[in-house]
Amino acid sequence: MAVLDRGISTLETVREKVEANERLDFEDGLVLMESDDVLALGELADLARRVRGGTDEVYFVQNRYLNQTNVCRVKCKFCAFARTAKQEGAYTITPEELAEDALRQRELTGFTEIHMVNGENPHVLFDFYVDTIRALKQAMPDVHLKCFTASEIHHMTKLSGLTHEEVLVELKEAGLGSLPGGGAEIFADRVRRLVAPGKEHPDFWFLTHDTAHRLGIPTHCTMLYGHVETYEERVDHLLRLRDQQDRTGGFLAFIPLAFHPENTVFERRGWTFTAGADDLKVIAVSRLLLDNVPNVKAYWIMMGMPLAAVALHFGANDVQGTVVREEIFRAAGATTGTEQKIGELVRYVREAGRIPVQRDTLYDEIRRW
Ligand code: SF4
Repeated sequence: MAVLDRGISTLETVREKVEANERLDFEDGLVLMESDDVLALGELADLARRVRGGTDEVYFVQNRYLNQTNVCRVKCKFCAFARTAKQEGAYTITPEELAEDALRQRELTGFTEIHMVNGENPHVLFDFYVDTIRALKQAMPDVHLKCFTASEIHHMTKLSGLTHEEVLVELKEAGLGSLPGGGAEIFADRVRRLVAPGKEHPDFWFLTHDTAHRLGIPTHCTMLYGHVETYEERVDHLLRLRDQQDRTGGFLAFIPLAFHPENTVFERRGWTFTAGADDLKVIAVSRLLLDNVPNVKAYWIMMGMPLAAVALHFGANDVQGTVVREEIFRAAGATTGTEQKIGELVRYVREAGRIPVQRDTLYDEIRRW
């Protein structure tokens, strides 16, 4: 009973801060993460979203996912996508083939964004990536290219001997529009050592995003949750993102990513998927803590469209996109469809009582229903 009283009174304290549009601190974040009152968290998150100027509009983008290579040197323990060059199923697509295929698909689906992430392939040169961006841009000048995680950018500095800034400048000149948010995982060193010991230190994730923002390249930020991390480590992760946004302001959106254990070492240890309530909690707490990131995405490919629609009442204001051909979460067992037609997205958003707005990558409106 004593614990319950403490929880209620602290949630009330958080509510007072939210109503006054005051910044929440680490302790607030921890109390929110530790609370099992998911509905109260959702209500608080929705309140925070509205207090900060949020409306009933819910965004989505018509996009296509590309994975040019699944060959990767890193071997993160949570990854079911990566292969070594000699392993069955390994692939590396040339810039020309990739652009030709994307152009064919563009004629069928009319996407406005390409979202591309890859393995850290040690068998290609930096020019491979620059040529890829250039080929895509030449084939589709009006399509926004949101490509390469911070880990990939860091990998390119190793391939080329260039700095992060020099790599980003070259890619931007070739046509790169923004960076996706992957590679963040959980920033805490303890977690990093356990799940991704071969990956660079999180400082490089921040260096890449900081540099991109200063060069005028907007980016996205993520958190991979539901594995070995503690609530403290989740809150720490979110507050580090908030600090970065205070410094450079270039994050367009935050995307929480639930860990999918299938086909990874964690499946053999009997781990299972997050079960809905935790997904909603993470969306809500993210919205509450990240008071300076304008958009929080409910990533339907990972949580399914019905739960993503519910998440719109827990602080999310974006359901990502049409997401044609997503490979990474499917490799790890996500069973949601990889092509969500616009009509379905519109229906789900409307049923949630919100206004569907198709956007471009930079959140400019294209169409509304
Ligand atoms: S998560 Fe990325 S860096 Fe890690 S093994 Fe998979 S493809 Fe490689």
